[in-house]
Amino acid sequence: MARVYNFSAGPSMLPEEVLKTAAAEMMEYGESGQSVMEMSHRSKEYQAIFDEAEANLREIMNIPDTYEVLFLQGGASTQFAMIPLNLMNKNGKADFIITGQWANKAYKEAARYGAAREVASSKDKTFSYIPKTTAADFDPEADYVHICMNNTIYGTKYNTLPETGDVPLIADISSCILSEPIDVTKFGMLYAGAQKNVAPAGVTIVIIRKDLLGNAMDITPTMLNYVTHAENGSMFNTPPCYTIYIAGLTFKWIKKMGGLEAMKELNEKKAKILYDFLDNSKLFKGTVVPEDRSLMNVPFVTGNDELDAKFVAESKKAGFVNLKGHRSVGGMRASIYNAMPIEGVEKLVEFMKKFEEENI
Ligand SMILES: *Cc1c(COP(=O)(O)O)cnc(C)c1O
Repeated sequence: MARVYNFSAGPSMLPEEVLKTAAAEMMEYGESGQSVMEMSHRSKEYQAIFDEAEANLREIMNIPDTYEVLFLQGGASTQFAMIPLNLMNKNGKADFIITGQWANKAYKEAARYGAAREVASSKDKTFSYIPKTTAADFDPEADYVHICMNNTIYGTKYNTLPETGDVPLIADISSCILSEPIDVTKFGMLYAGAQKNVAPAGVTIVIIRKDLLGNAMDITPTMLNYVTHAENGSMFNTPPCYTIYIAGLTFKWIKKMGGLEAMKELNEKKAKILYDFLDNSKLFKGTVVPEDRSLMNVPFVTGNDELDAKFVAESKKAGFVNLKGHRSVGGMRASIYNAMPIEGVEKLVEFMKKFEEENI
């Protein structure tokens, strides 16, 4: 068996230990005589798996009891509608910062339900930076302010949160969840699809302040109302059972690795190897301003489309896959989520050095 280094933006690599545990438990989980895939979600065994996963997530992220943790379906994209349906409910307006395609999709979907306002955007420079805002930029009457914390496609990340006063801040953390500590209390709500840093696709984690619940618009479908899921322990209907089980294994792995402080240290080390190389390379260069660089998604270009294509093809042959950049940026993108081992980044940089020598 030869496993590649997978730099995919998502679905992406999972920790090898998680895959091995899942494999070992595939035919029989514990002494249940069945796979987790085959279990009733109403069984005692499954409830224990679910409860342990939630407890570990709360512990790792330091989530206070004043927040509900929900395991939902529909991906982060369904949140783009659920958020306005549930929360754009007092003054019917919300503020958005447009830092890329995901942020823009959240904004456009919200505009179907109320007055969505673009406060700032970095579209002028292909989203290569995080626009600066001050408290005065936000409407104090807005029901919430929405940001995309880590911009998967463009490789930017918020290092300083916008100052929104009493207006709840909501962040899409799909591609940076569990990559470093985050102060949950600074947010009204956080949400993330699982397939970047947690588990296979299929579960969406929602962390929401309890006092924000209960004011959904009348038109809100039952399944899109957070209260439905909060009141039923995320089991109003069948949850994505197996994906939640894998998420639980990932949470245990993170605990064993030393928690989010340790993940941050490791992720900074990995990203630095790549950024240091890009900053000194005569062939490759990063596309993001240094102060807003992501720890998770690192886009880079040579400036020559043919050379970019050659690099992607040759790197694939050498066992580094999914390095082709998003079509809106071009070039390459290395997604180096939690599960990417440091050797993967070191070997990629070695390969890039060799490619540079041969092609300059
Ligand atoms: C991948 C991604 C999404 C879309 O997630 P789905 O689960 O496919 O809906 C949304 N936001 C961010 C930041 C992402 O990286």
